[in-house]
Amino acid sequence: MIRVLSVTSECAPLVKTGGLADVAGALPGALAPLGVEMRTLLPGYPKVMAALKKPNTVLEDPDLFGGPARVVAAKVAGLDLLVLDAPHLYARDGAPYNRPDGQDWPDNPERFAALGWIAAQIAGGGLAGWHPEILHCHDWQAALAPYYLRAHHPDARVGTIMTIHNIAFQGLAPVAKLPSLRLSAADMTQEGFEFWGNISTLKAGLVSADRITTVSPTYADELLTPAFGMGLDGVLRARQGVLSGILNGVDLGVWAPPYRTPTGKRRYKARLRQTLDLPEADGPLCVVVSRLTYQKGLDLLLDALPRLLDQGGQLALLGSGEPELEQAFRRATAHANVAVTLGYDEALARLLIEGGDAILVPSRFEPCGLTQLYGLRYGTLPLVAYTGGLVDTVIDASPAGLRAGVATGLQFHPTTAEALSRAFDRLCGLYSHPDLWLRMQRNAMRHPVGWDQSAADYKALYDGLTGR
Ligand code: ADP
Repeated sequence: MIRVLSVTSECAPLVKTGGLADVAGALPGALAPLGVEMRTLLPGYPKVMAALKKPNTVLEDPDLFGGPARVVAAKVAGLDLLVLDAPHLYARDGAPYNRPDGQDWPDNPERFAALGWIAAQIAGGGLAGWHPEILHCHDWQAALAPYYLRAHHPDARVGTIMTIHNIAFQGLAPVAKLPSLRLSAADMTQEGFEFWGNISTLKAGLVSADRITTVSPTYADELLTPAFGMGLDGVLRARQGVLSGILNGVDLGVWAPPYRTPTGKRRYKARLRQTLDLPEADGPLCVVVSRLTYQKGLDLLLDALPRLLDQGGQLALLGSGEPELEQAFRRATAHANVAVTLGYDEALARLLIEGGDAILVPSRFEPCGLTQLYGLRYGTLPLVAYTGGLVDTVIDASPAGLRAGVATGLQFHPTTAEALSRAFDRLCGLYSHPDLWLRMQRNAMRHPVGWDQSAADYKALYDGLTGR
């Protein structure tokens, strides 16, 4: 058994804003059969605290970044949780990172520094009876843990891993916060965590961890370039030797289609149309389940949409995010073949994926992407931008892909409205050939999207770090 402490700010099914939660929630179960005992350290948001039955206090800290805190151990939904109960930091209503008005909490740096601090304490031997051999940290919210471990527990024999789920989120804080984040001014350097005059907690993790991973091989390559590295490409180039990409998988128990063959989709498509009040149509019913942000390229979808609608296609979108995008999509519903639901709704997300013909992911950058993987499994063909994990998971219906009989979806490049419009032409063309479409659906549904390979890759990484 290898003991691993996974540190994350969100974890499905308890608290989720995006793919990170799915991955953090699935990893322990995926790795258990390989002999990995993973415990997950998570902030005690109200929703998380409410889900705990028989919590057991395993660690106390009378002054954790401004108030008393404790760590409680509990099993929830098959997860072996260590929950950081720090009411002064986490007992707040709403989303994990934002005030009710949508703005970031001003003390987010401290809120997640505390998570890293406790993680380092546990990795440093602070928990009686359980000493992790690996500290696996996810995104900026956990990224101070490897730094604190080095700085405050230098003798700990623990391998550290920093996983980048999205480099757009860097955990920036003004330099005035050095003392309140318990950071040493001596490390406010280019080699340390300094980033254009600010503190970057993500950078602290990237320069401190033994290994760096990200969530697809293509994104690992892209991160080394100025176009995708978002200012951290130089840091990553310097650490290229310890950087690797491991694809995210899908929890096959959670994402299990209620049909075995593509024809089984019909009744779900009918139910979806009925639910959203969409008429019958000749073209493909395209679905989107996404955060509405610049990253996701949905402004390009708005521009290219007429090309889909003109060919008898339909769009059903579920998402929430930037107000301008929300408004623009609301306006798009003037067309009878467009249905838009603003908000977060897991049941509707599932129905969209069950009932859609194609799922659209026109992202400008996409570390891995999960919804195209759901699409594959459900025979809902992914139409994706050629970037990041979308490159690594979809086989394009190019002439070669079709002739070899291996295509599972469509990719377009560059990520522009014009290229997306042309992809809609191809999509509608394929859809009008039911035999071709069915073949692709079968390929898609057979494509392995589970955790097997990636769990083995993480296990190999852990083995390498523990010297096994
Ligand atoms: P990201 O993490 O960048 O948001 P991913 O594709 O990796 O993108 O993961 C997004 C996850 O969040 C998926 O599980 C998707 O189904 C889910 N999701 C996104 N928006 C919504 C929404 N409005 N309602 C329900 N689920 C959503």
